[in-house]
Amino acid sequence: MSLSQERPAQGLVVAIDGPSGSGKSTIGRHLASSFGLAYLDTGAMYRAVAWYARERGLALADTSPAVVASVDQAAAELARALPLVEPLDPEEQVFVVDGTDVTAAIRTSEISTVVSRIATNLAVRAALRERQRAIIAHETTPQGWSGGRGIVAEGRDITTVVAPDATVRILLVAGEEARLARRAAELFGAADEAAIEATRDQVVRRDADDATVSEFHVAADGVVTLDSSTLTLPETLEAAIRIVEQGRA
Ligand code: C5P
Repeated sequence: MSLSQERPAQGLVVAIDGPSGSGKSTIGRHLASSFGLAYLDTGAMYRAVAWYARERGLALADTSPAVVASVDQAAAELARALPLVEPLDPEEQVFVVDGTDVTAAIRTSEISTVVSRIATNLAVRAALRERQRAIIAHETTPQGWSGGRGIVAEGRDITTVVAPDATVRILLVAGEEARLARRAAELFGAADEAAIEATRDQVVRRDADDATVSEFHVAADGVVTLDSSTLTLPETLEAAIRIVEQGRA
């Protein structure tokens, strides 16, 4: 089909970015369920590449100049060929890479520690960006998982790079203390001092590394900022639903 014959994109595209611990995955999933949309967790795609690269023996933690370039090149090749079918049902997020269920494995601290190495590789980003754009476009046409109703896509560069023309763009932020406490509770079941310290690398250092390639602390023009620092999950969801309803009106 030639470009001019392609159907125009239909359906709602909701783009959400934010730092780790801001609640964007939870809010993204709930929003998608509320509006009957598909849901794309782009962070999980970066995590899946990190898992696959480790599985293939790439030395992701080795930053010696002699190996960096070849590891980066190999990681980009793996990203381009990543055997992952992205789950788009917000109620059933199961990730299978090359026949292995990696749903739990991609959330481990081993992966959280090395994922920024993958995400700061510009060739990996280019490969995943194209996949993400193709999924978003397909989900807004009648053939997609959501029957053309649309999609919620969340990550770090969705509002700015992957889908800057999304119907609704939200930057979900929260203060560092709130984000650390949430991640600590998620990872260790408690938000005491020891748990917060153990979580710091995964939130603060990772965001600092990620911020070298994506801007997700300050909203771009036309992006609505939602600060969840002092809001409960239901309150944040309610505010996000209002933003989507206003944005698509
Ligand atoms: O959101 P989550 O913590 O699962 O993201 C994992 C990692 O994937 C982030 O730390 C970041 O390095 C990367 N990422 C990205 N761009 C996106 C989504 C995630 O660089 N759009």
